[in-house]
Amino acid sequence: MSGDSPAGGLSVAVTGATGRMGRRVVADALERGHAVDVAVNRSADGATVEGVSVEDAGALPTLLAERDPDVLVDFTGPSSALEYVDAAADAGVPVVTGTTGFDDAGETALEAAAAEVPLLRAANFSRGVAALERALRAAVAALPGYDVEVTETHHNQKTDAPSGTAKALLDALDDERGRAAGRVHGREGTTPRQPGEVGVHARRAGDVTGEHEVLLAGNDEVLELTHRTGDRGVFAAGALDAAEWLAGRDPGYYDFGAVIGER
Ligand code: NAD
Repeated sequence: MSGDSPAGGLSVAVTGATGRMGRRVVADALERGHAVDVAVNRSADGATVEGVSVEDAGALPTLLAERDPDVLVDFTGPSSALEYVDAAADAGVPVVTGTTGFDDAGETALEAAAAEVPLLRAANFSRGVAALERALRAAVAALPGYDVEVTETHHNQKTDAPSGTAKALLDALDDERGRAAGRVHGREGTTPRQPGEVGVHARRAGDVTGEHEVLLAGNDEVLELTHRTGDRGVFAAGALDAAEWLAGRDPGYYDFGAVIGER
């Protein structure tokens, strides 16, 4: 832990510090009594967030080596996140990343970094979504053969689709059914539903922070499981809970379930 940290607090590094999530992470970290000793963004332009100077992300390796933070929290994009994770692994700094949209090679790179430093990744840092996933597993187990459709809605600036959370819910569904369902992304034209397929629908509109709905239908009944996020603060809080939990642990690949006591 950096010698400059406030009593009981952590020294935190934040990437994407001027982004929607980065700003919330900086604010919440300070509110919790942590020090934000490193804040970077790809275009810093002399910005400050909550009084913290934001520096150029190109300087991240040097800043991590000089300031030796306890943990790095990343909400950026998949290519930059991999770059930042590498820098953190080289500097021996644990990483919490909430970035979504990694491809298979990205997933493999994250796993490799986790051999060197503790790394915790979650597509969604909301406790409500963790509960939604548990509820989905229970519902699928109780309703074999029911049709399932997943719909997510996010703000009009979101770049990846479907959302990382929707993918995590689909993976949980496959896991529970013991096979990979054919995922159909939207439908157009003559596309009758095939047995076992799962429809996936991504809506982009306005400033919606995040909504996920799983619909299960069969046997003349419908069950809908819905989660709505009111404010990004919920994700920042979950990521900082994760950062506090992760700092000082052994290298390894951790998930949010471990933080909230699911396992
Ligand atoms: P944003 O666009 O507001 O902020 C992203 C920040 O990262 C920006 O400051 C941008 O300059 C920087 N950035 C983006 N791509 C970059 C790149 N290629 N190189 C360098 N810097 C880059 O986005 P946001 O809403 O804050 O979301 C950031 C990420 O976090 C997304 O992947 C989003 O899906 C994810 N997210 C995850 C959760 C969760 O709970 N896990 C919650 C919300 C958002």
